[in-house]
Amino acid sequence: KFEYAPAPESRAIVDIKSSYGLFVNGEFVDPVDGSMFKSVNPATEEVLAEISSAGADDVDKAVQAARRAYERTWSKLSGRDRGKYLFRIARIIQERARELAVLESIDNGKPIRESRDVDIPLVAAHFFYYAGWADKLAWAGAGPDPRPHGVAAQVIPWNFPLLMLSWKIAPALAAGNTVVLKPAETTPLTALLFAEICQQADLPPGVVNIVTGAGDTGRALVEHPGVDKVAFTGSTEVGKQIARSVAGTAKKATLELGGKAANIVFDDAPIDQAVEGVVNGIFFNQGHVCCAGSRLLVQESVYDDVLARLKRRLGTLRVGDPLDKNTDIGAINSAEQLTRIRELSEVGEAEGAERWSPECELPERGFWFPPTVFTGVSQAHRIAREEIFGPVLSVLTFRTPAEAVEKANNTPFGLSAGVWTDKGSRILWMAQQLRAGVVWANTFNRFDPTSPFGGYKESGYGREGGRHGLLAYLKSEG
Ligand code: NAD
Repeated sequence: KFEYAPAPESRAIVDIKSSYGLFVNGEFVDPVDGSMFKSVNPATEEVLAEISSAGADDVDKAVQAARRAYERTWSKLSGRDRGKYLFRIARIIQERARELAVLESIDNGKPIRESRDVDIPLVAAHFFYYAGWADKLAWAGAGPDPRPHGVAAQVIPWNFPLLMLSWKIAPALAAGNTVVLKPAETTPLTALLFAEICQQADLPPGVVNIVTGAGDTGRALVEHPGVDKVAFTGSTEVGKQIARSVAGTAKKATLELGGKAANIVFDDAPIDQAVEGVVNGIFFNQGHVCCAGSRLLVQESVYDDVLARLKRRLGTLRVGDPLDKNTDIGAINSAEQLTRIRELSEVGEAEGAERWSPECELPERGFWFPPTVFTGVSQAHRIAREEIFGPVLSVLTFRTPAEAVEKANNTPFGLSAGVWTDKGSRILWMAQQLRAGVVWANTFNRFDPTSPFGGYKESGYGREGGRHGLLAYLKSEG
């Protein structure tokens, strides 16, 4: 049963169906009330497919399927056997990497270089990593005989559709839980292809269920009484609603929410490397990154130099077709997100900050926004306080390390931060002072399945990734 079966040849061109059902109990099924919505290619505004919209009855069926699979199959398997399924899924992801990367770029708008070189390899790495944990749970730190929670409800956003799925599903399954996952409504396609991969891997029916739909579907899932554990990644606003809905129930919850990270450049930093890190920090994935370095804090003495180099570098970025290997900045994921980015940028100007973008021609159709830098930003400005979730950088200055810390921490969020300096002692001091779940030193946006990730303050609670990510799916009693 567990023998390695090579997958069908990975296809260079993806096969997008005209419509997709819900993935419940190992099969694609129509929603009870037949309700559908459209997934749109953000680079062209073309409709890609009709997607099923799951109502409360559909969610109920999915949760029941997950419960049955948990009780009858998954909880009866040894960790070693669960690990074999996860290794199998990881290998199929590698084999179908090209297809997954193309589909991700079409549905999300991200440059193919990023989906091919970052997202999909990391997705496979997460399944490999947690496959290795499945038979070692006694060493996870949840006592000698840890147990899974049972059925996990998982709700994810649209910025890294398949990567967020892997952060959720791989540790949950390794720990022995079964799952019902809801992808974001603007990016459901790779989760549905993942459902096919579960079939290809012969995963027992009901262990993974995928319900598509908008926020109502997510709410029905999170509030379902048959759910034991909730894992959510998305906006702080929805995260707070979920925290309220699970309060007073026995459900365990982890929340990965928004951010407004500071990328802090000291005057002794290797400047070219720092500028490259600043560009990557905010323009990677169109700035649709919860831990994006959206506030650049530059030491005053190097401000002119950093700004000049930054602008020169931004002039070389290419905005355009996500499927072109030379593209640096792809499409904004949706019309709604584009409106939000535009509105907050207008607020930035109205509040007196100076707006700058390099010359760049944007395609006529689709959702696009040029790389944008605001200077003369004060801490009171909304663009310095609110998450824009787009390719927009707010630049502030500081004189002393203490002032850098004070400004960096002056935010309701606390997901990540970056420090650029030549001094090791300063890195260690800053890491202690910064109220952020991740502090990168002389790098930014680095991810690895072995490292825990998560927030302070309004960026949420709980950790994903590494051993800590596994612990979120285990309980110690029993
Ligand atoms: P969102 O909160 O609007 O949606 C996220 C998901 O929740 C979607 O699947 C959506 O359909 C669902 N949802 C909406 N309302 C719901 C409800 N009431 N109950 C249950 N589910 C509901 O966020 P978004 O616009 O899709 O994503 C952007 C946000 O996600 C940003 O704020 C970003 O910082 C955050 N994010 C955080 C991380 C992290 O790891 N901390 C990672 C990626 C994105």
